[in-house]
Order: sequence, then structure tokens, then C-alpha cells
Amino acid sequence: MLTLRNTRVISFSLDYLDVFWEIEPTNEDIQEYEFYVERSESEGGPWDKIAGPMIDTYSLRDTSVLLMSNNRLYFYRIRVRNARSGDEVYSKPFDREGSPDLYGEEIMRMWRVLLEQWVGVKCWLFPRKTFGQRCSSCYDDVLQRVLNDECPVCWRTSFIGGYLQPIEFLAQIDEPEKTEHVTVEDHRQVEVVALRAMAHPEVKPLDLIIDHKNRRMRVVSVNSTRRLGVPIHQEIRLVRIEVGSIEDAIPLKVDNATITLVPSNTFTNIQSDATSQEEALSNALSLYRF
Ligand SMILES: [Zn+2]
Repeated sequence: MLTLRNTRVISFSLDYLDVFWEIEPTNEDIQEYEFYVERSESEGGPWDKIAGPMIDTYSLRDTSVLLMSNNRLYFYRIRVRNARSGDEVYSKPFDREGSPDLYGEEIMRMWRVLLEQWVGVKCWLFPRKTFGQRCSSCYDDVLQRVLNDECPVCWRTSFIGGYLQPIEFLAQIDEPEKTEHVTVEDHRQVEVVALRAMAHPEVKPLDLIIDHKNRRMRVVSVNSTRRLGVPIHQEIRLVRIEVGSIEDAIPLKVDNATITLVPSNTFTNIQSDATSQEEALSNALSLYRF
């Protein structure tokens, strides 16, 4: 089977994105392999086939992209299929942000250890659709807006389904201040939440995030730390959606009985008498690959 490498997206035009991929040198017969290009607005899918089968081809100009938004994301992946055996492999999803170098990978690995062992809680990202089929039950073509704020078809995003497939990830959440904004008309409980996570899944403004306590939050801004232009880590600011909004009805399918909301540490308590000092130390050091 072929191994894909050096996948990338490059463009200096608003009309298209150029997608490139390469394969590791091989002794196999290249003519037996078909390449397909798939695209999604979310790295968790669903994926649409946009080109293929192609043989001995290593680039594609995707002219069906809408690049007039700063926040819209396009992810690609390459599917390689052996026409004779039917075996398939996929590349990792990639976008024009590119892939990190080895230092970047190591920083991300340490971030993952931090989230998995110390500070992370489980969250779910619902990437908001920014294009697709308009909602048939509430979208008005003339006014170009949704007419029903409580629409269960598009969840007031104006696109059917509203969100792409949810992606589970770990994040550190800064507990919001509890406040009550008091005006003559009403009281509002505005909670601004800060959350930090790894570079993937990539988050964009207006996405929906649900945390381990079923707090539903709207992304307001995303700030990323980069190395050589490639995102390593994201700082996300969110506003909690008022309880009772239509977003509360969006189903999150998890098994409450078995889900682990806060990951357990793989090391043992160094203070405990039951464990020898050396064992505890080696557990702690194993995080750093000693
Ligand atoms: Zn609707």
C-alpha cells in the first residue's frame, strides 16, 4: 500500500485552493492505485468526494470553494485505493494551516500530556455550518434570514442540521465569574468563559461547544499560538448560551453510564505508603518518555 506524505493546501487566489500530495517512494505499480480527494468544513467530517478516481496524479485545483469569509475552514483528505484488492488508506485531514515540524509536534505532545493528566476536561465541538442546504422550514429567501428563532431543523443557523458532526476533545476551562446584569427590564446572567485546547480540532467563531457539565457555549473569538505559522494551541473565548435556548435541545449522544468526563492520571500518588518511591517516580517520569 502506498504511504501519503507532504499533503498541503496553497493558494494566492480567491477563486480556488490548490491541493497537493506526495507518496513515499515505492516499488509497487502506481497504475494500480486510484486517488480521491475529499473535503469537509470540519476535520471530523462528514466528507464529500470532490475528485477522483485519479491515477498517477498528485495535485488538484479545487474551484468549488467559497473564500469570501475569514472564518470558514476547509479540510481535505486524500483517499488511496488499490483498484485490484480494494484496500484503502486515508491521509490525515489537512488544511492550509499546514502541519507542524518536529518541535511543533513535541510542544503539542506536551500539551496533550498536560490536558490528559492534569487540567483537561472533556468537551464537544459542534462546528457550525457556513454553507449548504438552506433550512426549508424557516429560512426566508427574500429577507435572507431565519424567521423562527426556535427552529429545530437548523437550530437558527439557517442551514439544515445546523452543525457538522460533533468532535470530542479535551480542554482546560477557566471557570466563569458568576454575574447578574441587572437592568430595569430584566436580569441577565452573562457568563464569559475562557478555554484552552490543542490546535485540533480547529475552532472558529460561532461554533458551539458543550462542556462536561452540559454548559453550552458560543465561540466568540479564537486566538492561536503558532510555530513557523502552524497553530500549536488555541485560546478560545466563549459566551454561555442562556439556559432554555433552542441550543439546549441539540442532542449530544454519549453514554452517561460509561463516559469519563475527567481523564484519570496514569501515575500513582507519590505520597502514598503503598507505592515505593521509585515506582511512583518512574510513573511520573514515564510521561516524559524516560
Ligand atoms: Zn430553520
